Amino acid sequence: MKSLVDRFGRDHTYLRISVTERCNLRCTYCMPQHGIEPKPRSELLTYDEIERLSAIFSSLGVRKIRITGGEPLVRSGIEQLCGRLTALNGIEMLAISTNGTLLEKKAKLLYNAGVKNINISLDSLQEDRFKTITLRSGHADVLRGIESAIDAGFQSVKINSVIIRGFNDDELLNFVEFALALSVSVRFIEYMPFPGNNWMESQFISFYEMKHTIESKYPLEPVSRNEAIPGPAKEYKINNSNTTVGFITTMSEHFCGDCNRIRLTADGRLRTCLFANDGVDLKRLLRNGASRDVIENSIRAAVLLKWEKHPGHEELMTNQDRGMTSIGG
Ligand code: SAM
Ligand code: SF4
Repeated sequence: MKSLVDRFGRDHTYLRISVTERCNLRCTYCMPQHGIEPKPRSELLTYDEIERLSAIFSSLGVRKIRITGGEPLVRSGIEQLCGRLTALNGIEMLAISTNGTLLEKKAKLLYNAGVKNINISLDSLQEDRFKTITLRSGHADVLRGIESAIDAGFQSVKINSVIIRGFNDDELLNFVEFALALSVSVRFIEYMPFPGNNWMESQFISFYEMKHTIESKYPLEPVSRNEAIPGPAKEYKINNSNTTVGFITTMSEHFCGDCNRIRLTADGRLRTCLFANDGVDLKRLLRNGASRDVIENSIRAAVLLKWEKHPGHEELMTNQDRGMTSIGG
């Protein structure tokens, strides 16, 4: 079996694919208020192209794929793409990240298409706060989406919440209790700076502080990371429950040392890090009729150039060549 090992010995087994830059929400920490100028459809990878590239990645050792965006459920027929990726040789785990607003109708279809893990973003349990952060309505739709995901039978349902001081940090325990009541897991994400998202240090709340707050009521037991293809979160278990509490500590404690992730943008560029610039244009190679060997070699070359760790937050805020929606958070 071939593998995608970089100069620092990291093996890349986990591919995140952004299938669209569009989204039906406008989360203020992610999207400009008026949305982004969407690229013409012809600039996006087609499902055939995504399948073809995914087959190449899986032959290079990728075993887990996460579908993300933008909002992946706004792209029509997403469950058909999922079914095609599940059927690829070597793909052991297909996961999806969604804002949950359209999930009620799609949950069972995604499950039937072979999606095993689903992450649903929800930053507040309060409807008015949901509107404040997403600039849209839809809180009740997300709650119904979560119920549908639970009913559909996914191996893992996780609620993902970006915690912002002064906005929703008072909901940490409520989120844990919400997860406990539904027997799902919850992950708290450190707020990250992106150009134009008005990130302020004063709004940042670190993993240590979040954990401390939760432990005032629920002792957290570290969960050993023995999954075959681990994700980036630090995971803890709550006693006598099926609920895990995870933290994405991108800012306070980067986890670049054991990064196993690479990203395919909606317009077909390979990015070796969420914070990296540009990326190899695999779509152009495909559309110019490049052979499989040429595409494989380009992927390998990009992985070999991957940096050891991402830069500090000052640099992250000024780097214009990034956007969560196109890279897929
Ligand atoms: N639309 C889907 C969703 O919201 O889950 C998938 C794409 S979204 C870009 C993926 C994840 O990135 C979400 O959990 C979102 O909360 C997170 N995200 C976006 N901007 C962020 C930021 N500035 N800091 C931390 N997480 C962020
Ligand atoms: Fe859309 Fe997800 Fe970004 Fe919110 S975080 S604007 S739901 S892509």
